[in-house]
Amino acid sequence: MPVITQENLALVVTKEVEQVRVTDIHTHLYPPNFGDLSLYGIDELLTYHYLVAEFFRYSTMDYEDFFNLSKTQQAELIFQTLFLEHSPVSEAQRGVLTTLKELGMDLNVRDLRVFREQINSIPAFDYVDRIFAIAGIKEVVMTNDPFDPKERQLWEMKGNKDPRFKAALRLDVLLNNYEKNYEYLNQMGFLVDKKLDENTLTEIRRFLRYWIEKTNAVYLAVSLPPDFMVPEDSYRSRILEKCVLPICRELNIPLALMIGVRRSINPRLGLAADSLGKADIRAIEYLCRTYPENKFLVTMLSRENQHELVVTARKFRNLMVFGCWWFLNNPMIVEEITNMRLENLGLSFIPQHSDARVLEHLIYKWVHARKIIADVLTKKYLDLLESGWKVTEEEIKRDIEDLFGNNFWKFVGRNV
Ligand SMILES: [Zn+2]
Repeated sequence: MPVITQENLALVVTKEVEQVRVTDIHTHLYPPNFGDLSLYGIDELLTYHYLVAEFFRYSTMDYEDFFNLSKTQQAELIFQTLFLEHSPVSEAQRGVLTTLKELGMDLNVRDLRVFREQINSIPAFDYVDRIFAIAGIKEVVMTNDPFDPKERQLWEMKGNKDPRFKAALRLDVLLNNYEKNYEYLNQMGFLVDKKLDENTLTEIRRFLRYWIEKTNAVYLAVSLPPDFMVPEDSYRSRILEKCVLPICRELNIPLALMIGVRRSINPRLGLAADSLGKADIRAIEYLCRTYPENKFLVTMLSRENQHELVVTARKFRNLMVFGCWWFLNNPMIVEEITNMRLENLGLSFIPQHSDARVLEHLIYKWVHARKIIADVLTKKYLDLLESGWKVTEEEIKRDIEDLFGNNFWKFVGRNV
């Protein structure tokens, strides 16, 4: 073990951050046996909604005409517009370049058909292994929605056989739209009523137990609007307090709250239509204070919420802050937030998740995140050296393993 000096510090930190195998705690990926729910390949990458939104910054094309095209045609238009007619400087655009480069492509070719052919020539059976190896991924947590008929059927018929894919049960439909969706629960065999009487609450709890067991979920999760508040007189607040939190306590699993998304502010953009808003931190304070036996994983979408979120985490040890979500996943904001968290919480947080929807997203999200986190950490260790505190390579390795996986598993309370 070399002595860590100001001269070799950056090299050691960068090496450890590049080598650490990541537990990616929030993705939208599925195991290969889930068939066409698993998205991969250059056309999926290019037509991802981040890039669709950016395409319409330049294009005057009619929205509907674009969405009526095949995926391949959409990908060609996006490549032409965002990569050939303008330099691809945005984070999502640059992400495609990083991904192609890490896959071994020659970027100077600048020909989508060539990229497509080269990627398609990689044998499908080891594609997941290959992407996980390039991105340095140990395991990923999925987003599993029992209200999605296709996904529900896959869990009932096949289940997940790949231990690298962990489940997280997504409760958006249950919590955000109960009054419109409760009949689906009846169709699934859970006898609920629109009115939240005792029988209905018991059945919702039975539904949660059933699906946690079926998927072996490591946490429950919900994405929430900026006006999320609890307690309040709403279906969401009552189901949360009377069903979700008791079941989390009973089975000792965390609830992940992803707060601040405003759905479909421009419906013509389809999947690219969502935006964000600043949320009220008092909902999190109430939950952490009122339910000390519950564990909350929290990420917020608005940059304006980040400081009060870290301050709240200083007050409640049952609150684990995670990730730089969606519109925050820009280098300048990731750097700012990671600094803020280190300065307020030490190493007791989860700096990033990928939110990968397409398998290859894992590559660029983690290449970019590792670089920023390594740079920020290096500066923090440098401050320690300057104060006369010596750090060893083993200690640096320990800290980095905590940030990229162990903090999550310790918080979840089990190692599966
Ligand atoms: Zn997500």
